[in-house]
Amino acid sequence: MMKGIGVKMLKRFYPKRTAESTYVIDYKKLYQEGYRGIIFDIDNTLVRHDEDATDRAIELFKHIKEIGFKSCLISNNDEERVKRFNKDIKTNYIFDAHKPSRKNYIKATKIMGTTIDTTIFIGDQLFTDIYGANRTGMMSYLVKPISPKEEIQIVFKRRLEKIVLYFYHRDMNKRRSNIVLIGFMGCGKSSVGKALAKQLGYNFIDTDMMIEKKVGSSISQIFETKGEEYFRDMESRILKGILSTINGAVISTGGGLPMRSKNREALKRIGKVVYLKGSKELLVQRLSKDTTRPLLKGEDISKRVDVLLKERSHIYEELAHRIINIDGKSISEIVDEITKR
Ligand SMILES: [Mg+2]
Repeated sequence: MMKGIGVKMLKRFYPKRTAESTYVIDYKKLYQEGYRGIIFDIDNTLVRHDEDATDRAIELFKHIKEIGFKSCLISNNDEERVKRFNKDIKTNYIFDAHKPSRKNYIKATKIMGTTIDTTIFIGDQLFTDIYGANRTGMMSYLVKPISPKEEIQIVFKRRLEKIVLYFYHRDMNKRRSNIVLIGFMGCGKSSVGKALAKQLGYNFIDTDMMIEKKVGSSISQIFETKGEEYFRDMESRILKGILSTINGAVISTGGGLPMRSKNREALKRIGKVVYLKGSKELLVQRLSKDTTRPLLKGEDISKRVDVLLKERSHIYEELAHRIINIDGKSISEIVDEITKR
């Protein structure tokens, strides 16, 4: 239903972060991250609609003040309502704020003496609260509304919010998943990986290239001077790094990398593992033209591929979430097959 440009347009409403409630956010951590000011929406964010300040709201403002935060309320409601809420809170406030207009978000930072980069906005509505913060360039926090009972004009907005949030959560999940390409040398992990990354808008990572960069010499040289064991250790270390830091990437792996069971465990956790499976004939044909492969040097290539394939193919097949047969297929055909499902 909503594809391409439609979903892209929804992104302007995506919150930077979300929380179950204003009252479960770890404010100390936010201070450690460098934030110094917090702007709060009032209704449904701090208290139920039109409610006076509750004990826990009063406590919250005491708590964030002790941490060192400045704060400001900004509400689209009128002066009477905002003043009444603020009576026991005693912080800065702006009423009739016309969110999502940027003007009063910026004004709030001036009142607090913070900057846009050091200020957080917390609110319960996407199209006013969050959209305004995003337009201003401010960190935005969406919280679930406190009261389930809402005025009729908000009920309609909530339905639209649900649509945006559906795509938001879908994108967040997508962002977290990587695609890992495994397979025998010569199966096209790098060329397919690059094309696939481009198609998905992902980063492309090649473990061999990462190792070359780190060590400062080519894979053949590393094999020659430091040995295969050293190289395999490097592979394991690189995977560990990827596991803890990389999201939304296509990762092309060295052909021997999955031979270590530790590495296989890591690959499964990194993302969806796709095995690019080529026939022996195809691989021999491709590798005969290639002189840079350390494990094939000085041998009858056909025999060597045969031995290595027998050693490796069942391991690839067991590890893979998906197997793609590559014989007779172009790079773009393989990419299509991977992305289709
Ligand atoms: Mg609200």
